[in-house]
Amino acid sequence: MHPASQKVALVTGAARGIGLAVAKRFLAEGWRVALLDIEGALLQGAVAGLSNPDATMALHCDVSDAAAVADALTQVGQRFGRLDALVNNAGIAVFAPLLETSDADWSRILSVNLTGPFLCTKAAAPLMREHGGGAIVNITSISAVRASTLRSAYGTSKAGLAHLTKQLAVELASLGIRVNGVAPGPVETAMAKQVHTPEIRADYHDAIPLNRYGLEEELAEAVFFLCSDRASYITGQILAVDGGFDAAGIGLP
Ligand code: NAD
Repeated sequence: MHPASQKVALVTGAARGIGLAVAKRFLAEGWRVALLDIEGALLQGAVAGLSNPDATMALHCDVSDAAAVADALTQVGQRFGRLDALVNNAGIAVFAPLLETSDADWSRILSVNLTGPFLCTKAAAPLMREHGGGAIVNITSISAVRASTLRSAYGTSKAGLAHLTKQLAVELASLGIRVNGVAPGPVETAMAKQVHTPEIRADYHDAIPLNRYGLEEELAEAVFFLCSDRASYITGQILAVDGGFDAAGIGLP
């Protein structure tokens, strides 16, 4: 059995991509991890592939469903008895011009990318408070700070999440909960394969000083640092992990 002092992280959107890399990073550091995702079969496969199944649990859940999120947090409390870190990573992207962005896509993107972290944080904070606090990391995007074409819904959802990060950092400090964000540049995941056309890829390469996409593990490293005690005096910050894209200030079309 795991000692009660062993730390616990909940990672949303953990069945693949950045979320799965984050989950693996926590496991490598000796934490227990609850992996949450809307894709049940994908999630089961991912969890089955992890080296230490005793330290993991799978939660099949839609982050935009308040009742399902509350139930998932209840399960984390029952299984692990504590929660030290929440990584709000689950997200969806539709890149389209405004006139081709359907009302349904707009609503769904806001529901998953912004309401999801709100619901997960609300459900997680009481469990975190029981053991003196914890850390939350919201995965935003360079699209939260830099406007471009095709991303009115996605970029706005991520800008909202960046501001929610600061709001909650101020509000939850009294509970001992730090709240930060990580803003990835482009990372070669299933999402990028879905929305990054050859033209978008060329634009990114030209605009990124390090001249390449980021790796999932490079994002996981930043997330783990912000959740660890080494970041004990950092809250309310958004850390860009983007190869210098934001610093360079070169615009995308
Ligand atoms: P991905 O599509 O590979 O993984 C996202 C995961 O979230 C999937 O497993 C998916 O099933 C899950 N998910 C989607 N909707 C969900 C919901 N409603 N409830 C629970 N789980 C849900 O994407 P990724 O590239 O790994 O992206 C992870 C995060 O990083 C996202 O928030 C994304 O917006 C952000 N991001 C990605 C990039 C990039 O270039 N890949 C860039 C900037 C920001």
